[in-house]
Amino acid sequence: MMTKKFPKEELGFFPTPVVKLSRLSEYLGGPEIFMKRDDMTGLALGGNKTRKLEYILGDAVAQGCDSVITAGAAQSNHCRQTAAAAASLNMECHLVLGGEEPVEAKGNLLLDQIFGSHLHWAGQNRKGEDIPQIYKQLKKSGKKPYVVPYGGSNELGALSFVAAVEELESQIKDEQFTHIVFASSSGGTHAGLMIGKKLYGKGFKLIGINIDKGETDEIPFDHYIIELANKTSNMLGLKYEFTQEALTLNSDYVGQGYGVVGKLEQEAISLTARTEGILLDPVYTGRAMGGLIDMIRTGIINKNDKVLFWHTGGAPAVFAYSDKLHLMPQI
Ligand SMILES: *Cc1c(COP(=O)(O)O)cnc(C)c1O
Repeated sequence: MMTKKFPKEELGFFPTPVVKLSRLSEYLGGPEIFMKRDDMTGLALGGNKTRKLEYILGDAVAQGCDSVITAGAAQSNHCRQTAAAAASLNMECHLVLGGEEPVEAKGNLLLDQIFGSHLHWAGQNRKGEDIPQIYKQLKKSGKKPYVVPYGGSNELGALSFVAAVEELESQIKDEQFTHIVFASSSGGTHAGLMIGKKLYGKGFKLIGINIDKGETDEIPFDHYIIELANKTSNMLGLKYEFTQEALTLNSDYVGQGYGVVGKLEQEAISLTARTEGILLDPVYTGRAMGGLIDMIRTGIINKNDKVLFWHTGGAPAVFAYSDKLHLMPQI
């Protein structure tokens, strides 16, 4: 596989399992639903950022860097996995977090602290606007810092999801999915899956469920994904030219915006927990599963389809949203 020539640090356990969600399918009277369990990558309670970090920090190690800087929301799963990965690679980790420091550290934030990362509170700047300033400070103090982009979504991050499609192919062999549904938020997962689909000639429809309203994005998110897919295929020596037609980004479920939990997420989390014993998270996978359930109920995805839901992780955030999740409707 063409991803082999890129340096990589092993940070998780792969392949992640693929399981069938028979009871959830039955409850919905819907299609067969399978799940790719990237919540089980193993690194610091798992998630899709483990894949990206294997290549991104592989590059950092190859360059001889001794510290990493990245950014995210206070409950960023990306920051939590970066903090753990950095610890395991003996690198100092600096996290630039949006918002103000809360009175009590819960969920991912608590884990960031346990893994020994240095926290920088950035107010409104939750997408890494303050990274250059911290980079300069570290340089000045004699460090060799490496910047991991917001969400780990650069070419190396996306590359890991091209490899993930190859991994999936090797696991499922005769299953032909009609749809792959997943949470899309910084674009690396989406761009990588797009390339993987093309590279392996797969017929499934890729439906990214948009998680963020993107009001503050400099580049519209759909453009960003296409651009990243094209840059990544270029890096891989594939001459793919993706256009907007190749992209399905469903923004129907962003609700009140990033990290605001509503009925959609609550129902998806309780249904998946109570039919399958599987935990989703309030910010990403709960919303994406809520989208899938709605698409099944409204007939966009029908009984004869065969769906793979890509579980991208996020479990620690459950503990930071206890006020929204403690009383859920019985099913
Ligand atoms: C980061 C993240 C996503 C989104 O992946 P992107 O590659 O950033 O689009 C989805 N789910 C979880 C749990 C995440 O942490």
